[in-house]
Amino acid sequence: MIVVPESACPGLLSLEDAFAPVEQVFAAMARGDAENFPVVREALGAPEDALYGFKGGYDRAGATLGVKAGGYWPHNLARRNVTNHQSTVFLFDPATGRPTAMIGGNYLTAARTAAASAVSIKHLARADAKVLGMIGAGHQAAFQLRAALRQRGFEKVIGWNLHPEMLPRLAEVAEAAGLPFESVTLDQLGAEADVIISITSSFAPILTAAQVRPGTHLACMGTDTKGKQEVEAALLGRATVFTDEVAQSITIGEAQHAIAAGLIAEADITPIGAVINGTHRGRTSADEITLFDGTGVGLQDLAVAARVVELAQAAGKAMQIDI
Ligand code: NAD
Repeated sequence: MIVVPESACPGLLSLEDAFAPVEQVFAAMARGDAENFPVVREALGAPEDALYGFKGGYDRAGATLGVKAGGYWPHNLARRNVTNHQSTVFLFDPATGRPTAMIGGNYLTAARTAAASAVSIKHLARADAKVLGMIGAGHQAAFQLRAALRQRGFEKVIGWNLHPEMLPRLAEVAEAAGLPFESVTLDQLGAEADVIISITSSFAPILTAAQVRPGTHLACMGTDTKGKQEVEAALLGRATVFTDEVAQSITIGEAQHAIAAGLIAEADITPIGAVINGTHRGRTSADEITLFDGTGVGLQDLAVAARVVELAQAAGKAMQIDI
């Protein structure tokens, strides 16, 4: 069994390295060659009040079988100076069931989530997109921003966050890439951005349908639980909606609210894998609003974990243990 510790992952896998595995697994899911298993999520209660769960899946096309185990320990940072999000990926040989790898999953989660919105921009944003709008400035936002900048010739980054004191971290990322950053109102963000990424913990709509102009691509990445919401449901009624996995989009994703309000039907939502496979045309005009509802699936974690194992082996940094 190969072990890739958490500390080795950022040095082995760049954000770009995550793009192809995530794109390929989205394509395999849409072909029916890969499936995510039902997610388990349990509240552990006091004293740590942690949420613990499993996200597993099997990708026949990529011969990847495994599970990400972990969750959220809200008191970690304050009590132990340890990151609140904790996860580990386990891979198994689909032919024998033997464990093949154990990989730190914290950085990989950030990378696979950044890759998802980047892949959506690659396939759905207008080719001439110039202004990138960010809603959210937490841990994940910097990863989403860095990955997005690789996909189009962006000339400017604008951002809004409920807690504006967090925006300088996005300004740093933009400026490191040689781009100006401006803190804006939501009206300005909607009026200027060609691509918008939302990555917040919001439980109420932030951006309204009226604020978004024709031709915009949105990657809504924060909503991954029942009750969360980042954009007005009416926006999904105006947009062509894509997702990683339709079953999650309608239950825990941004689309849950538009479905409940009867503004869209399940059949209106297209897996982005269909666009990657060429069985859906994706964006069809410069005026179309496209919206990617990125809910986060276990197969993304397994895909980037399998890639980091390959990179560790190639670099001679794979730790081998017998179990
Ligand atoms: P974080 O705690 O570091 O940042 C939270 C962000 O949300 C900050 O910008 C904060 O200002 C903002 N925020 C907090 N409460 C808000 C509210 N009530 N209204 C509007 N904004 C609010 O978290 P993070 O690690 O950056 O993750 C952000 C979100 O993305 C979380 O909700 C997380 O569950 C989700 N997430 C989704 C995926 C996926 O695959 N789709 C993967 C990782 C994280």
